[in-house]
Amino acid sequence: MNLLPPIPDQPDLPRDPTVWDQWIRQRRPEFNALRGRLDHSSASNSLIESETNERGESVSTLTVFLVNRECPWHCLMCDLWQHTTLRPGPPGSIPRQISTSLRSHLGHEARHLKLYNAGSFFDAGAISVSDYPTIAEMCQPFTRVVVESHPRLIGPRTEQFRDLLPATTQLEVAMGLETVHPDILPRLNKGMTLEDFHLAAQRLQQMGARIRAFVLVKPPLITDDSMALDWACRSLDFAWEVGVDVVSLIPTRMGNGSMEELSRRGLFSPPSWSTVETAFEYGLSARKGLVLMDLWNLDPIRGSTEVRLQYARLDARNRAQK
Ligand code: SF4
Repeated sequence: MNLLPPIPDQPDLPRDPTVWDQWIRQRRPEFNALRGRLDHSSASNSLIESETNERGESVSTLTVFLVNRECPWHCLMCDLWQHTTLRPGPPGSIPRQISTSLRSHLGHEARHLKLYNAGSFFDAGAISVSDYPTIAEMCQPFTRVVVESHPRLIGPRTEQFRDLLPATTQLEVAMGLETVHPDILPRLNKGMTLEDFHLAAQRLQQMGARIRAFVLVKPPLITDDSMALDWACRSLDFAWEVGVDVVSLIPTRMGNGSMEELSRRGLFSPPSWSTVETAFEYGLSARKGLVLMDLWNLDPIRGSTEVRLQYARLDARNRAQK
């Protein structure tokens, strides 16, 4: 029997999906300074980090944060739109961004490449299909390329891109599973069911692609940390059941307007570090696949001593996988 408390009543939050979508968009802070500066001529950032692979090796990984139009979905917790433009970029702009980033890391020894576009790589309105051959060619020095996609966009374009990749470059697709909570997932406004995710995972497996899933630790509308931990563990279990290779745990954060409003109403608070670490512990000890903790919320340089220690501890566990 599940003795965990139910999600809170939300009598004055819209139930109609169209009105809910508007509610989320209306709470966005004004066009922020970063977004105002973005254009399609260069990636917003690129960096080299090391990430543990399935054999426990530390692999140098270049991540390029591409600038393109905003994702067509507007998820309740998503703040990635701040790194996008209002209009699509012209064909050729994404290969140019990648090429400039590669040049700026000349002499790097990265073996994996992440092309993250704050949306879906297979959204043809964001990344032109006519650019796939050039992008695929640029992946040649890398043994793996990781792209992000909404599960409902896994299909013929994914296959088309996979077919263009050199035989020595494996495709990995990262998809937001977010949570398996049956009441919360529809409220995230992601336009996705667990069946959609399962189907996308099956298709990717048939294509020989690896799968990465993003799982939220304490999604909005779960206000109790023990309930949040329970659903994070259930979400990890589901990910493994459907064949996910890597789970990235994301402590849900503030910053997109909606989350601040939910927080004011007592319907969201970030997870405690004990919840985050216990969910991580559950994932690591199951040993069913790689589990990585997202450390974006922790600033190892400007943070307090406590934050720096937390960062160092979690980073060490990401590397050691134990
Ligand atoms: S699908 Fe992904 S990028 Fe798009 S709004 Fe949702 S979380 Fe953000």
